[in-house]
Amino acid sequence: MVLVPWRSYVAGTLVHVVPGGGRTGPSREHGRPFDRPVALSYAIERNDRPLFFRKIRAATEFVMGSVSKESRAFTCAKGREFTVSYVRIDGGRPGPALALIGGQHGMEHIGPVVLKEMVHELAERDFRGTVSICPCANPLALELDFEYYPENEDLAVLDGYFYSRFRHDYCPYGMERSKGPNYYNMNRLWNRDVTHGVAGQVTQWLWDEIVSGADVTIDFHCLQAEKPLIFNWHKDGIPLAACFGIQAIYPHGAGDDFLQGNLGYQGGLGGSRAFCVEFSRQHGYKDEYALGKQGIRNIMAAIGMVEDDVVLERPVYEIVSSIATKAEATGHIHYLKDEYEPVLAGEKIFEISSLESLDLLQVGVSTIDGIVGRRTRLPIAKPGENVLAVQDVRKVMDAGSYPAGCQAEGCRVTGWNV
Ligand SMILES: [Zn+2]
Repeated sequence: MVLVPWRSYVAGTLVHVVPGGGRTGPSREHGRPFDRPVALSYAIERNDRPLFFRKIRAATEFVMGSVSKESRAFTCAKGREFTVSYVRIDGGRPGPALALIGGQHGMEHIGPVVLKEMVHELAERDFRGTVSICPCANPLALELDFEYYPENEDLAVLDGYFYSRFRHDYCPYGMERSKGPNYYNMNRLWNRDVTHGVAGQVTQWLWDEIVSGADVTIDFHCLQAEKPLIFNWHKDGIPLAACFGIQAIYPHGAGDDFLQGNLGYQGGLGGSRAFCVEFSRQHGYKDEYALGKQGIRNIMAAIGMVEDDVVLERPVYEIVSSIATKAEATGHIHYLKDEYEPVLAGEKIFEISSLESLDLLQVGVSTIDGIVGRRTRLPIAKPGENVLAVQDVRKVMDAGSYPAGCQAEGCRVTGWNV
């Protein structure tokens, strides 16, 4: 492990370390926190201008822990070399281990941005335990803005490929999910006996380094949706997943060996917790950064890493079942309810109007009490296609503030809860 003085990769390139006034701790050691308060002055070079700053902590404050970055080089089947990096932030006091991973799928960029920003934030915070953050697990796929890195295929195929909502599931290599297992898909390669390609080498490394020892693992992805949601594999993990603060928790199956290679499934075995945050926008950015960062703070509070409140801006629902309403006509869709908005049986949820006569052709009505679910990706309704779902739900938590450790029973992780 390469130990990097804290904030050197945050603020710029470390060019010189100046012994700081008042440093009383021992020499910094391999991945271990200082055992006494310290004050350090670093000379940091940024934009060719030296920048000096000093971090001084009073003896009455908690001890600042250490920040370390680990990088590993990998080589693809055709020789392309690349590096994957993660940061481990030790809060300086014993506590849970939290693993945060983003960027497994290359067209899902919001999680990686959120996680890079959390490195900055947590490097400045006192907390119990350790947080390990890998924002970009699959750098070459992110570079391509493609779901996976097709290391054995002809990359030139992608020059003529453009994503379209009209063929969301299309794969230019003929590896659509409906056609069976695709072992280039990094998020099917966790904790396997067999290593599948360079993506499998990366998951094996990250599994050994940060996931297998984690009490809680959160995997960050994106959808094509209106709002974020959570995919959850292990029902006993729902109380903790709810503390993240995203309104809808969808159960996710792992019915075969391929699906069981999912990080959200593997990370939640053996008494650990894991779930997947799905931000709403693939192939781009949507301003869900504050929501993502508050969710991470909430989880840290829920498992006793910090003493902040768990803050939920919205109620949280577990999806029990989903009832889709199909289009009966071709036309424009006017949605009458927002995603996750409560709805009663008999309430109108959408209208379809004609492109030719301008007449109202269909009024979609909910058949159950629930919340409004996901919409079709397409702007024009076509007969027989699902327009909008209504979810039968169980409310897990109301909006509001909850004291740290509030969900202790449901969030319990290996005895660390306050
Ligand atoms: Zn994904």
